[in-house]
Amino acid sequence: MIEQLSDFMEGIEEILKKEVEMAKLKCNKCGVVQDIPVHCGQPMIVTEINERTMLACRMGAACGITKELPKHCDQPMVVVEEG
Ligand SMILES: [Zn+2]
Ligand SMILES: [Zn+2]
Repeated sequence: MIEQLSDFMEGIEEILKKEVEMAKLKCNKCGVVQDIPVHCGQPMIVTEINERTMLACRMGAACGITKELPKHCDQPMVVVEEG
């Protein structure tokens, strides 16, 4: 049971890494694309907190910083994956 959980967590870690590398922020109104903000020297993780999309520092609890998505054209930017 514990081993399965640990495999699961490692899988999540891999998914997060991929998402962080590929994710960008885009303004739906004007189409501008920006990089995910950096904290503690690494791109922040896009995550959901209380059903809201937020950015969190990759250091997790060691840093504890979360941010709302930046705004552009007076509306929150959306996360897109650039491939
Ligand atoms: Zn940080
Ligand atoms: Zn815009």
